[in-house]
Amino acid sequence: MIIRDLIIRTCTDMGISCVGCADVSRWEQPLFSPWVPESFYPTSIYPEARTAVVIGLPVHLPVVETAPSIWYREEYKVVNSLLDQNTWRLATLLNDQGFPSVSIPRDGYGSINVLQKNPVAFFSHRHAAVLAGLGTFGRNNMVLTRAWGPRVRFGTVLTTARIDSDPLIETSLCTRCNACIRACPVQALEEEDYPESTTNKKACAYRSAALNAEYRSPCGVCIKVCPVGADREFYDRPDIRIYEENGSWNRYHKAWAHVRSYGSDTKAHSDEREF
Ligand code: SF4
Ligand code: SF4
Repeated sequence: MIIRDLIIRTCTDMGISCVGCADVSRWEQPLFSPWVPESFYPTSIYPEARTAVVIGLPVHLPVVETAPSIWYREEYKVVNSLLDQNTWRLATLLNDQGFPSVSIPRDGYGSINVLQKNPVAFFSHRHAAVLAGLGTFGRNNMVLTRAWGPRVRFGTVLTTARIDSDPLIETSLCTRCNACIRACPVQALEEEDYPESTTNKKACAYRSAALNAEYRSPCGVCIKVCPVGADREFYDRPDIRIYEENGSWNRYHKAWAHVRSYGSDTKAHSDEREF
């Protein structure tokens, strides 16, 4: 069995439908400018690497809709853990096939305090996902996928195996609706396409730190309001006015308010806009 088929079959067995491969040379052909610095390239981190294998796991829309909440916080931790476990398993599988490989941790920072000082990790799974043909950047600075819009998290394996790259998605999936920009509680996003729209990462990190102190980080607001993704139809939430209007959607607002009332200390943000 060729390595690519083995990876796909193993991912299928692990319940992972979102997987793509990118030859590491793709990092040397920037898709846009500014691009990630060379020190962030796979071969700068693991010089023997020939291919990046990227997997994605979704966060479920009705859970994200309660964000910020303990429910989303717990799901986020589960998905991160699964990504770390599954990329480690894939790297080990490739090692067993004779191709030295490593997995990159999902969240490459020790604490939110570190992110406040330097809100960047040593490797960008988002750029790897785009280069592996899994999605395109949106104005919320997240990678949008056809299946789940930005409600997906990515993990990466760097391997010495040479595997054919998946085709890039040529047309942006972002509709430029600006819902993410309107919804951001700290105005951290700009009305420009990525990478012109650089998130105010410090403002975002400070909000995340405040939410973390209340046991309800991450924020998740710009992720839940994005209209892109087949999950919207699947969960019967095609209309994003659901977040800004109450009326006929009252039962959803009541459900979100209920979830947010438990498991977190929300005193500091009790006057926060509800999205
Ligand atoms: S995560 Fe929250 S604070 Fe950060 S950009 Fe998105 S909406 Fe704004
Ligand atoms: S909410 Fe709209 S502007 Fe923002 S990333 Fe999604 S599609 Fe693009």
